[in-house]
Amino acid sequence: MALTKVTEKIYYLINEKETDRPLLGYIKGDKYSLMVDAGNSKNHVEKFNNSIEKLNLKLPDYVAITHWHWDHSYGMHAAMGKTIACEITNEQLKVMTKWQWTDEAMKKRLLTGEDIEFADTNIRKEYKTFQEIKITAADIVFKNNLEIDLGGLTVILKNVISPHSEDSVIVHVPEEKVVFIGDAYGMDYYNNCKYDPVKLESFINTLENLEFNLCFPGHSSPINKTDIIKFLKSQHKKICVRNE
Ligand SMILES: [Zn+2]
Repeated sequence: MALTKVTEKIYYLINEKETDRPLLGYIKGDKYSLMVDAGNSKNHVEKFNNSIEKLNLKLPDYVAITHWHWDHSYGMHAAMGKTIACEITNEQLKVMTKWQWTDEAMKKRLLTGEDIEFADTNIRKEYKTFQEIKITAADIVFKNNLEIDLGGLTVILKNVISPHSEDSVIVHVPEEKVVFIGDAYGMDYYNNCKYDPVKLESFINTLENLEFNLCFPGHSSPINKTDIIKFLKSQHKKICVRNE
């Protein structure tokens, strides 16, 4: 599977369900390029970089992380370019740099709720040996918003209210009318799979007020603005019926 070209300036590598690899983005400015999410491992990053080189594009100067979850951040040490995360993401990355990677330590984290079964299962599938797991904090840390001029193209990183995680960051490219939303649209797997209707409503509002045509979710194919909003509104309705 190679990189898919959306426009002259926007590319993506589709997600892979096998080991829960998320979709990775590539935004090409005249001067600099930016990768969206660092993937779940060195192997994932290498796959991304190989497809970049095959298209004669240059390796990314920056890598923006949408949230702290392992599948989006454990490739950071191997990714090319300076890594960028919001403050809340970075705090959790720092916590994870202290995690031990032994079978015993991993099982213990499941008991304490620091980690979840779904992540544990996929980490064990993605990594042949746990010694390969390397977690690093970001090079550049921001609070709330960060605007980056890539040359003829602006990228806006924004920490938004989302049902998935407190640190959810969306990556908006106004000139290209696209937005990468990471997992911001999903439930909170680290909080008993809670799907908070108030936070979801806030996230739907954020998308409604944002100018874009195409949206890139972390774990499925690109979807247009009307369809993602329609989908999230139907999810919201389901939660509210369930909670009645
Ligand atoms: Zn996530």
